[in-house]
Amino acid sequence: MPTSAHRRKLRILFASSEAVPFAKTGGLGDVAGSLPRALKHAGAKAAVIMPKYGTIPQEYKDRMKHVADFYVPLAWRNVYCGIEKLELQGLDFYFVDNEAYFKRDGLYGYFDDGERFAFFAKAICEAIVKVPELACDVLHCNDWQTALCPVFLRELYRGAPQCNNVKTVMTVHNIKFQGQYGDKMLSDILGLADIPAARDQLYCDKDSINFMKGGLCYADALTTVSPSYAYELQMPFYGEGLDPIFRRRSNILTGILNGIDTSIWNPKTDAMIPANYSADDLANKAECKRALQEELGLRQDPTRPLVVMIGRLTNQKGLGLVRYAMDGIMRRGVQVAILGTGDADQEEAFRYFDQKYGDMMCARIAFDNALSHRMYAGGDILLMPSEFEPCGLSQMIAMRYGTLPLVRETGGLRDSVVPYNKFTGEGTGFRFSNMNADEMADTLLGACEIFWTNQELWTKLMLQAMATDFSWRRAANDYMDIYHGLHPEVIRYNKRRDR
Ligand code: ADP
Repeated sequence: MPTSAHRRKLRILFASSEAVPFAKTGGLGDVAGSLPRALKHAGAKAAVIMPKYGTIPQEYKDRMKHVADFYVPLAWRNVYCGIEKLELQGLDFYFVDNEAYFKRDGLYGYFDDGERFAFFAKAICEAIVKVPELACDVLHCNDWQTALCPVFLRELYRGAPQCNNVKTVMTVHNIKFQGQYGDKMLSDILGLADIPAARDQLYCDKDSINFMKGGLCYADALTTVSPSYAYELQMPFYGEGLDPIFRRRSNILTGILNGIDTSIWNPKTDAMIPANYSADDLANKAECKRALQEELGLRQDPTRPLVVMIGRLTNQKGLGLVRYAMDGIMRRGVQVAILGTGDADQEEAFRYFDQKYGDMMCARIAFDNALSHRMYAGGDILLMPSEFEPCGLSQMIAMRYGTLPLVRETGGLRDSVVPYNKFTGEGTGFRFSNMNADEMADTLLGACEIFWTNQELWTKLMLQAMATDFSWRRAANDYMDIYHGLHPEVIRYNKRRDR
């Protein structure tokens, strides 16, 4: 330990393009809404910085306070940036305000997304320099939208005393999305065209640059959202062209499994489900199943295993396997209920099965949070045969509700679901390994066999699943280890490892 070591709270600034309850399109929003709070409990001083989107509910906008404003240099021009602040349940959220960039109907999918998030990343760096309360020891960046921060900090802000000792962590939530744009951005927006090191590391093709690649090359530490995904990212099949960088930097790459918000996802207190239950008294889960069957127009029969799927209807989620296996599964008298939105062809396929199988199959093509709660509570099995899954939240939520997950062995699914072992009785769900529809169907029908013939064992597996700890406390402690590894001169404020 350095001789000048001293004990204080590390200051973490968590940079994210979305955070619950202000804006969410996927798992990143959940993480940014929960992890910083858990970091505070683990002994850090944490704050979140995100864009001030037009879609943030008015009640929150009304409570924001103006903290600062300044101009952000984007190559040859200066662009206005306001910083607003809102304290929510003890955590400070800062919002980067520029109406031209962020006052729109949605979060992403615009022609100028590259420019919008390059501005966001640059605004964060400027804010660290110009707004004293945003001074930090670690800037924690997430996905491509904030991946340019480590590049800017190193190449453009090295001289600023406020940035000298700021270390950067880059977390990959999904490598599919990388932020690739034409290389004209280097001179028009980023202002990095004359810096060879930055140019070389941002280039991914002859004439395009890649924000994520920049972040991965420049950050002081890399993390992703499960240990298995950290391993998979180093393989060409999963690495989406960036696997050589993950291999090169594997010594600073860590996988930390996300948690879930256990106060929201709790069958004992959940006000959105028809009847509450817990591991101590499971009786009401049967009522949740009956009510769900009624609501979805399924035959109200407790002896039918009810398989639920909740999530985006995209290829990533392994829906091809489900479509292929559907007829075989249906022939065995299993009920299937799907909630999701996504690609048009997938939506169409499941609407077709809904029509074809009447009161044994239901497809709800919608985003419906309340219904998702009722499905987690009312299902017997949650099916998640993903092609890849960085972490996955649905399987963890399902386990908390005693709904046994059946997953493909990949990424966070492998790290969170313990497969049923018929010799030891261990298990919190079921797993299969290959992208093979017959293998998935066999595993599913094997699980149904237990449901039909051995309710005692089924209940034991449910209780084992419900007892698993998916709180954020464990993950926060692991992130604290990484932050302190980057700042050995600071002794950990809260030495107690509350696992
Ligand atoms: P991803 O981040 O890849 O979309 P995750 O499993 O990590 O998948 O997280 C998805 C989250 O979004 C879960 O909490 C799930 O319940 C929720 N969700 C996904 N689709 C829907 C939907 N159509 N209606 C309600 N909730 C949904």
